[in-house]
Amino acid sequence: MAEKTFTEPAVKTEAELRASFWQQVKSIPHGEKLKECIQCGTCTGSCPVSYIMDTTPRQNVALLRAGRIEDILQSRSIWLCASCYSCTVRCPAEIKITDMMYALKRLAMEKKIYPEKFPVYALSKAFIDNVYKYGRNYEMGLGIRYLLKVSPLKLAGSAGFGIAMMSRGRLGVLPKTIKKVDEVRAIIDRAKQLGEH
Ligand code: SF4
Ligand code: SF4
Repeated sequence: MAEKTFTEPAVKTEAELRASFWQQVKSIPHGEKLKECIQCGTCTGSCPVSYIMDTTPRQNVALLRAGRIEDILQSRSIWLCASCYSCTVRCPAEIKITDMMYALKRLAMEKKIYPEKFPVYALSKAFIDNVYKYGRNYEMGLGIRYLLKVSPLKLAGSAGFGIAMMSRGRLGVLPKTIKKVDEVRAIIDRAKQLGEH
């Protein structure tokens, strides 16, 4: 595993994150089994995407028990989890690792702690902003906003591909707003309200 350094200042105290995490864990059946991990590594060995994670499933459990939740939230691992449940099925201690990953994702969203310039969050935010504005996706705007956020240099390199798509009618030049966009906005507003509780 490549050594990882964190330059971002702590957004929340570790104690606050731990309290929120264990609150999340309460909603997982047998979530307290997390404390029984024997660090055997079966979860990491079973995980199809551990090779691209900066902290593996086994390391995530160790970090949790060491009180380093913020390190996990700032890593890419929880967002790369494919929810395949291989780790959960094979864990000899019957730890619900996949559910733990979901709990960590919910916590990251709640506390707004993400790895810097991480594509999944940047793409998700650009997509939701588009849908809020137009009531549907606007692919050109999505691509431009996403690339500006994660890799501005790639934007120029993608121009040829975008033009080719437009010339074949596969990519609209201008956004189209749906008739009942207010109804879509009301749904998103309500979802945001629920997420804040
Ligand atoms: S498989 Fe289970 S016991 Fe083994 S390291 Fe992973 S979480 Fe811990
Ligand atoms: S559920 Fe996630 S962490 Fe577990 S093995 Fe699958 S991808 Fe890896």
